[in-house]
Amino acid sequence: MNDKKVYVAYTGGTIGMKPSEKGFIPEYGYFSDQISRLPEFMSPDMPQIEMHEYETLIDSSNITPEHWYQISQDIESRFDEFDGFVVLHGTDTMAYTASALSFMLEDLSKPVIVTGSQIPWSQMRTDARDNLITSLMLAGNYDIPEVGLYFHNRLYRGNRSRKLDASGFHAFQSPNFPALAEVGTRIQIKEHLLLKEPAKPLKIQRIAPPKVVILSLFPGFDADMLEKVLDTDIQGLVLMTYGMGNAPSDDKNFLSVLRKASDNGVVVINCTQCYKGTVDMCGYETGHALLDAGVVCGYDMTPEATLTKLSYLLSSELTLEEVKQKMQLNLRGELTRS
Ligand code: ASP
Repeated sequence: MNDKKVYVAYTGGTIGMKPSEKGFIPEYGYFSDQISRLPEFMSPDMPQIEMHEYETLIDSSNITPEHWYQISQDIESRFDEFDGFVVLHGTDTMAYTASALSFMLEDLSKPVIVTGSQIPWSQMRTDARDNLITSLMLAGNYDIPEVGLYFHNRLYRGNRSRKLDASGFHAFQSPNFPALAEVGTRIQIKEHLLLKEPAKPLKIQRIAPPKVVILSLFPGFDADMLEKVLDTDIQGLVLMTYGMGNAPSDDKNFLSVLRKASDNGVVVINCTQCYKGTVDMCGYETGHALLDAGVVCGYDMTPEATLTKLSYLLSSELTLEEVKQKMQLNLRGELTRS
């Protein structure tokens, strides 16, 4: 019998859903009952498991920062008793949750693996079986001191991952950072890529409901519309720009709206619309114009990591200058800066 112990937080998602007249729905008790009969759980390779099924199981499109806080509190309250943690979650917003948890769980020394599936466990061609079983083995049997996202034979750093396929089994990718583990006939952990184990004990930092928005540029983008958004009480804007972080430098109204927002204390982060690569605001005049307007470089962070990191920093006691500075620093492996 394996003496490792894994705590499973089951929040909802396709993985445990059952068919109904209106399509797949989560139902309390259904999934726990199904997996309790699984013979694999008797294997000596399998850690001992305790599953906490959340009272209200959700489709992850309904996830809020309150749920993120609930998951992190759940992990914190059982932290000393278990070797690792698995969060079962819907795939739609999984990259947001994995990113948020990576920031909220400060000084994390044990694996927290977020996973789910594209086809429910109950269905014939399900991908849930491997995703669940391998996640449990990763969480129980390996030293991975960070939040990972396991899906279809790959373990990714949570805050580097993105959902890029709505229906394929290879639904997640990590465009700007290699996978932390590749799973084939063997589980190969890339130890040199893992975060270092922290010396301090785990602490959690709540993310307050964010006053943060993501807006994407497009040809014909209306700066007056942006001004209306910025005239509310928002604290942060993730601006999805072109290529290496470029925006229309000829549109003086657009640049002055951004300057005004920045002067009024809104933190504006430059995040590229490109799937891969990094923002470099000094590469083109069109990027430099944003720098002059007070916009902060988001480097190669995913939009999910940028949004959750900004919300996390704005929820702490930091000054505006400190928030801007930390947005450009590598806090949990979410950003590459040469
Ligand atoms: N809509 C589902 C969810 O995100 C999709 C899934 O789990 O794959 O909860």
